[in-house]
Amino acid sequence: MSFDITEDCDFVVLVAKDETQFPLPSLALRQASPVFSDMMQMPRVIDDDQNMAPELVKLEEDASTLSFIVKFVTGCSIACSGADPTLQFHNVVVAADKYGMDGLQNFLRVYCRAHWNILASDPIALFAAVRKADWREYFWRATRETLKIDLCLPQHAVAMEELLTSDLKLELSIIRGIRKDVFLDILNSNVVHLSFPADSRPTCTCGCPIVFRTLNLVSEALARLLKDLDARPLGDFVWSQDYQLQDSFLAQCDACETNYIDLSTFAVKVCEPSYAERLADLYPLRSLEHYDKKIYGGF
Ligand SMILES: [Zn+2]
Repeated sequence: MSFDITEDCDFVVLVAKDETQFPLPSLALRQASPVFSDMMQMPRVIDDDQNMAPELVKLEEDASTLSFIVKFVTGCSIACSGADPTLQFHNVVVAADKYGMDGLQNFLRVYCRAHWNILASDPIALFAAVRKADWREYFWRATRETLKIDLCLPQHAVAMEELLTSDLKLELSIIRGIRKDVFLDILNSNVVHLSFPADSRPTCTCGCPIVFRTLNLVSEALARLLKDLDARPLGDFVWSQDYQLQDSFLAQCDACETNYIDLSTFAVKVCEPSYAERLADLYPLRSLEHYDKKIYGGF
């Protein structure tokens, strides 16, 4: 009886670009990917003792990416951990597309939702992965994560260049611009007069005039806020206690000791109606939601 070695006990070894080897049953890999299946139709080498040399498949992917793929194909559990889980996730998304691995793509979609908080620690790679996979239900959420970081920082330069197409970079730039415009509108319409009072000195809600030094502190705080919102236009950092406790945000009225700037409600507490307007009312995502509906059909 003949024994079909190619069908019955075939192992294949995937070789990462750093030469790390991942042996796995050929059948599992062929079932997971038509591209790998085609690759493995090639004639095999048999040595003098009639042993099949294990097939080596050299790939461009790194060891971290192949490790994820091999675990998936062989049914092992996959933890979202390691040195750079989001970059790994991104690279697996790219590979799943390249090798036509539909099952893996479905798994990644669920994995993305389950591990969102971990994956969002690298917003650029997460955004790139979501767009690459074309998971529309995550488009807005992933875009929003990118608004939390300053994309101009040097540590993001490599990811921006390597992971994002020029179209995606432009898209992020537009959405950041819209978000910043919202804040500029808020600050310009509510705050500029504080530094240059026209005819009367601004007063606290208690009636006490604001002294020059305090006025300066308030202006400084607002300038800092503007700069920070420009870099990280989601503005979520405003709610952190550390941010609110910075000296310049603690300018107080000498008479009634209330803080002039209340970042927890995003309000400037002085008596003129335009200053006293609660910035929180203007703060929501309305401009971005509008953009979101226009681009993605809304959520
Ligand atoms: Zn007062």
